[in-house]
Amino acid sequence: MTTAHILGFPRIGAERELKQALERYWKGETPQAELLQTGRELRARHWRLQKDAGLDFVAAGDFSFYDHMLDMSATLGVVPPRFEWPGGETDLDTYFRMARGAAPSGKATHACEMTKWFDTNYHYLVPEFQPDQNFRLASNRLFDEVAEAQALGYRVKPVLVGPLTYLWLGKGKGGDFDRLDLLDRLLPVYREIFSRLGAMGVEWVQIDEPALVLDLPEPWRAAYARAYAAFQGLPVKLLLATYFENLGANTVTACLLPVAGLHVDLTRGADQIETVLAELPADKILSLGVIDGRNIWRADLDRALAVLTGARDTLGERLWLAPSCSLLHVPVDLGREELLDTEIKSWLAFAVQKLQELRVLKTALDNGAPAVREKLEAARAARRTRAHSARIHNPRVRQRAASLADRDEHRLNPFAQRRGAQQKLFRLPSYPTTTIGSFPQTANIRGARREFKAGRLSEALYKEKMRAEIALAVSKQESIGLDVLVHGEAERNDMVEYFGEQLEGFAFTGHGWVQSYGSRCVKPPIVYGDVSRPGPMTVEWAVYAQSLTKKPMKGMLTGPVTILQWSFVRDDQPRADTTLQIALAVRDEVRDLEAAGIKIIQIDEPALREGLPLHAADRPAYLAWAVRAFRVAVSGVLDDTQIHTHMCYAEFNDIIEAVAAMDADVITIETSRSDMELLDAFVGFKYPNEIGPGVYDIHSPRVPETGDMVRLMRKAQGVLPPEHLWINPDCGLKTRNWPEVEQSLRNMVEAAHILRMEAK
Ligand code: GLN
Ligand code: ZN
Repeated sequence: MTTAHILGFPRIGAERELKQALERYWKGETPQAELLQTGRELRARHWRLQKDAGLDFVAAGDFSFYDHMLDMSATLGVVPPRFEWPGGETDLDTYFRMARGAAPSGKATHACEMTKWFDTNYHYLVPEFQPDQNFRLASNRLFDEVAEAQALGYRVKPVLVGPLTYLWLGKGKGGDFDRLDLLDRLLPVYREIFSRLGAMGVEWVQIDEPALVLDLPEPWRAAYARAYAAFQGLPVKLLLATYFENLGANTVTACLLPVAGLHVDLTRGADQIETVLAELPADKILSLGVIDGRNIWRADLDRALAVLTGARDTLGERLWLAPSCSLLHVPVDLGREELLDTEIKSWLAFAVQKLQELRVLKTALDNGAPAVREKLEAARAARRTRAHSARIHNPRVRQRAASLADRDEHRLNPFAQRRGAQQKLFRLPSYPTTTIGSFPQTANIRGARREFKAGRLSEALYKEKMRAEIALAVSKQESIGLDVLVHGEAERNDMVEYFGEQLEGFAFTGHGWVQSYGSRCVKPPIVYGDVSRPGPMTVEWAVYAQSLTKKPMKGMLTGPVTILQWSFVRDDQPRADTTLQIALAVRDEVRDLEAAGIKIIQIDEPALREGLPLHAADRPAYLAWAVRAFRVAVSGVLDDTQIHTHMCYAEFNDIIEAVAAMDADVITIETSRSDMELLDAFVGFKYPNEIGPGVYDIHSPRVPETGDMVRLMRKAQGVLPPEHLWINPDCGLKTRNWPEVEQSLRNMVEAAHILRMEAK
């Protein structure tokens, strides 16, 4: 018998039930008990699905009220001092204050830093370690959830983040010390967790160590053997899970760790199967991740079966099968998609469907392929029609991409020259102030969009309402005294969806939500075919906004890499090819905006960093095509058209040269959550163009103080030429409310005044 399991299930709920429950609780509308009840219902529902699909375990501990890394911090008692946690159990409000800065109870303070989980669009809360950091078991959450599943009669495999991945992804604060030195203090708490789970009758524990797919420094790699040796003689078996890449240089390390089983990702690291089979000791189980946990295409079951059958020759009963990683990264259920084109729908599988794919594979392995002949044939037929569908091929697009010339990816003149032309045109003060694009998506805006989409509000009326919102945003910005204005993105639901909806080659789901962070979900479009732009996408709004003010209005587009990165993309051509097609569509939009008199255009590329391959050897090729795509998108304009870009949430220090190679005239960049740590990159590297390091964290409901922002800008002045600096928040303001935004921006404009006075 083959064992089938999953590494984790989406926690947000098919209808985003968790999102709604969280937001009601945060607003103080419902008691905590109600939120806890929603959590229980979701877990029960997800376990039932796993059981019904014939899986051998249900996963527990994959559920979270915000983030699984934050859960680990709560479990291990890693609560930074500013939260004034009294000790004992980490209560839910302390947990939420770490995530968001504020909660229904407890004092508001700044939230923990948030960053991307490996190369996904999921964000985790970065653990903060003090030099004297102690660890102790500070939450019963995992045990409670295991007991909950057991009470429902399930065989449970608890899931938790392993000690080295946990430390690796954290940051030391308040002193210069090596996080790895904390390992010995951390291990006993893990031992305690395993002992307790064993005492509860748990046989297998999944311990996630995705850090093992990274190019780890030698001391970290060596620490793995030491850490896992400490888990000997415990009453549970450990399944060490790795995903998102092949194990590369860590293959032998991973195979030889003293654990009972290893899980590897065969969708991103298909080539590792042979080395892993060769290195793995004969007493270990091997879990093969053959179903893609990061994308929504139906699996090639024949190919998966061939790989599994081959592996079974070596492994016999020691073969387990699973999706490549947690299903956290795909939507819940394709069955809810009533409006999706039926042909495209037949090519897809979401989490629930992937459980069924596992079932088919398990049955084929255990009872022979004829037992599931029809299911295999249906999967084959779907893949065949997809490969040959006329809807995915557009020869004109291919032709244009193939015939791009060198001049198509260069501005007419170098930055220094463009800068002169732009200064003459815009006459901005020093330390110009701007924002990143979006303004609050109020209940009014969302309500109007809902009515419009439901057909209860005419297009004309909807547009009128959006124009009123734009006018409101413009007048507020004028009264605040900002220098470069934005229209506020009222008409956009999501920055990628908005463009995808207007491009050919994209399809949309009605319920395809994926958690981005906390209660925030995105509904990634599906790029299924060659991409092209039938007509202008944003020009009308930008022109309207510009007509309301004499100040420059910044046009706002999403960049090609971000559109790629935040969509479910084709798996039948290289990502680089898809990106270039998108870049050509953005290029046409940039030129249309310029022709319509919009002379400052921002192309957001917040996802550029997250697309970086996890293995260093693959990075130069990625950066080359990603930067090229951006340049193709923006290079069709005149010198005095100012191109901005914006990036957020990640460490840019290691890609700063590529960022410079994008040659945007101005970049605004997230820095405030990490207290301008980003600036370290500029000590060694002279960034050539203008830059706005974000001066306040928009993820937190706190209004920033002028003095704090002046202080951050002084830090920036230390490493960047003051005449190159802009002042702006770190990201878009759509998740905030107007009173906060207005007060924050007034303080920000005042900070700019202070700096300008000082300069005189
Ligand atoms: N222009 C977008 C906004 O302001 C940028 C969002 C982002 O960087 N994630 O919302
Ligand atoms: Zn941003």
